Amino acid sequence: MAPSAILSTPVVELNKAAVSKNAQSSATLAPLDASKMTHSYKKVQASESNASDPASFTDHMITAKWSVKSGWEAPELKPYGPLALEPAASCLHYATECFEGMKAYRGFDGELRLFRPDCNAERMNMSCERIALPSFDEAEFLKLVMELLAVDGEKWLPREKKGECLYIRPSAIGTQAALGVQRPKEALLFIIGCQWAKLDEPVSPLDGVTPGMRLLASTEASCRAWPGGFGFAKVGANYGPSLLAQGEATERGFHQILWLFGPEGMITEAGASNFFVVWRTREGKLQLITAPLGDKIILNGVTRRSVLALARERLNATDKKFAPGVEELEVVERTYFMPELEEAFEEGRVVEAFVCGTAYFVASVSEIHSRGKDLKVPMSEGTNGLYAKLIKNWLHGIMYGKEDHPWGVKIVERGVPAIEA
Ligand code: PLP
Repeated sequence: MAPSAILSTPVVELNKAAVSKNAQSSATLAPLDASKMTHSYKKVQASESNASDPASFTDHMITAKWSVKSGWEAPELKPYGPLALEPAASCLHYATECFEGMKAYRGFDGELRLFRPDCNAERMNMSCERIALPSFDEAEFLKLVMELLAVDGEKWLPREKKGECLYIRPSAIGTQAALGVQRPKEALLFIIGCQWAKLDEPVSPLDGVTPGMRLLASTEASCRAWPGGFGFAKVGANYGPSLLAQGEATERGFHQILWLFGPEGMITEAGASNFFVVWRTREGKLQLITAPLGDKIILNGVTRRSVLALARERLNATDKKFAPGVEELEVVERTYFMPELEEAFEEGRVVEAFVCGTAYFVASVSEIHSRGKDLKVPMSEGTNGLYAKLIKNWLHGIMYGKEDHPWGVKIVERGVPAIEA
């Protein structure tokens, strides 16, 4: 039986119900409140700057402590540095950790923008709920993210670095020191930022030249997530156990694992990104297909939902202004299996495939190695497939402010106050 037959409630509704239940249970405690934030700035010598070191984190971080007795303490903006944790902290033993991946984009107009940050805030709350960490007011959470960027944005992503981005990593951990297996009574929310390499036009690790992402399909012996599990939440527990397979894939010259589920080879997502195929049905209809959310196996990617929305809005029959070679396309979210994809390859119906996510952006796939078969994926535009390129350009335009769009949220930058700098 396909997992969708087991779990039919849509994932987003389940998430919202869970978050509101969690919020109600903590209604008497102090809420997360960005207006209470304290600031202590890093002392930086005029000559000292590591802003060009791609391996380093930005100067500051934001932390907010929570306890079951009093709720959220005042958030703190302070110099980036180690956290103090008890060796018995819940997160170190029971994986009470979740996180988000966001980027701040330096627009071609010089402005700094986040992309749909409300989606990350909502998903972070849902992930917290899944691992028994406290919920928070999403608007206040976003103010914390924006405050880190207000202070560090300009130094770490200067206005002249148009078209580049900074990575922002909010995380939450259970910090209570207690070895009993229980819901943590203390937690910490923290937000850090760093520079990020461009990953959307990968080349083959085998020759360093051939363009496209190489995916290695998982074997029947391992899966990333399962019905009733937590694959839909961005919890660290989804990633650690996948690193062995990822390491093997890297050694064999692949970029990511394409995670299949079950003996029938249900196609789910790639290691840190959602997976899409553009193919033709036997009747000749062009489709963009991706795994559905209802099974609660895959992550509800912010990029995934944006790709789907743009394809539905801009590649439907009512839009007559298609670029040359571009056709109307049907968007399909449904459970599909590796043998179906293999058949489509054999019958020459695969048009292209791509992965998408905050880290990889939109990256076209050139090859899938699945259970003994090498499936070569067409990339009609050289380094991209036609539809991946089109959708990528639309997203790029929104992220970097070439297109004025409600998904692009501007940051008001301030830097470190002169007296502190
Ligand atoms: N799937 C997994 C497992 C991921 O880790 C990510 C990246 O965060 C994604 C999908 C893509 O999600 P998003 O587009 O929100 O970055």
